Amino acid sequence: MESQIEVSITDAITRRDQGAAWVDVREPEEWAASRIADTTHLPLAIAVARIVDQWPERDTPLNISCASGMRSMRTVQELRQLGYTDAVNVGGGIKAWVAAGHPVESSAGLTPQQLERYSRHIAIPEVGIAGQQKLLSSRVLLLGAGGLGSPAALYLAAAGVGTIGLVDDDVVERSNLQRQLVHAESRIGMSKVESAAHALAEINPDVIVEPYQTRLNADNVFEVLDQGWDVIIDGTDNLPTRYLINDASVQRNIPVVHGSIYRFEGQVTVFQPFEGPCYRCLYPEPPPPELAPSCAEGGVLGVLPGIVGSMQATEAIKVILGIGDPLAGRLMMYDALAGTVDTLKLRRDTECPACGDGDRLTGLIDYEAFCALPAR
Ligand SMILES: [Zn+2]
Repeated sequence: MESQIEVSITDAITRRDQGAAWVDVREPEEWAASRIADTTHLPLAIAVARIVDQWPERDTPLNISCASGMRSMRTVQELRQLGYTDAVNVGGGIKAWVAAGHPVESSAGLTPQQLERYSRHIAIPEVGIAGQQKLLSSRVLLLGAGGLGSPAALYLAAAGVGTIGLVDDDVVERSNLQRQLVHAESRIGMSKVESAAHALAEINPDVIVEPYQTRLNADNVFEVLDQGWDVIIDGTDNLPTRYLINDASVQRNIPVVHGSIYRFEGQVTVFQPFEGPCYRCLYPEPPPPELAPSCAEGGVLGVLPGIVGSMQATEAIKVILGIGDPLAGRLMMYDALAGTVDTLKLRRDTECPACGDGDRLTGLIDYEAFCALPAR
């Protein structure tokens, strides 16, 4: 038997108390500003598809509401056509609810300025208010405020990642400015962490920057890593630091978004401890130094780190929000000259000394010696 297509607020409450699900189909900003407690928010554009996913039984009792009952009526009519016999429109919507003196929840913890700033995130169902709040309470550690760290820091700050840790011991030089856009001509000579903190504060006052003007080594790495980071973005360009970060992050079970660049080629992957491979799984032994030239020696197209660092920021956001398929166990390779992107499957090495199934490294080693470089 079909229910009547529209019910009053009072009837809607009775239906809810008897087990009906209540779906609000308004836009994210409207939902954030005021909403009925214990309603499921599914914006109009995706509502029907999501309802079919979530409640496949066609006799599920469903209350559908919006601001005044117009949009939700369209949803109810679509649902009826799909056979949902007990989907009903809540007449008058949240306006009638408020007029009847019922309480609403509001703001979802975001200020009006934040709702405006992040409105393009909030409009994406995979992010929404809840995702934005997750970003705001997240902590991302950036290793290196240089070529890769610059775009990553800029985009993460703009995205509202609440706390960004910056590790770098360099000062801004003129030769950096060809690609390191977080710095500026006026800040040549300033420490990179201070210069970057300056730029990020200009972009988004929501973001707290935790500067570490240091070079990570076996003595200080855990001091920095043990500050509750959700994800690490590795933008370092030397082998001893890469192995150090790898071993330390595997031991602390923190995912690392790895990026590397050389001339016209960039690579990105996510080292998700024990789920995908780690850096050592891929490179058990460091290559001899002459086969691992740095950007200082080999050069790099200025745009390339902009692309690769932005990809790293994207992966970090995916990891934080738990959406999509992070590049764990996959290496994305971008060739700017050829204009191609290839993705290679990577396997975890069960005999890896850092993340394998047997005896694992429990501490750190001398990474300068391991990579056969003169100690600094
Ligand atoms: Zn490994």
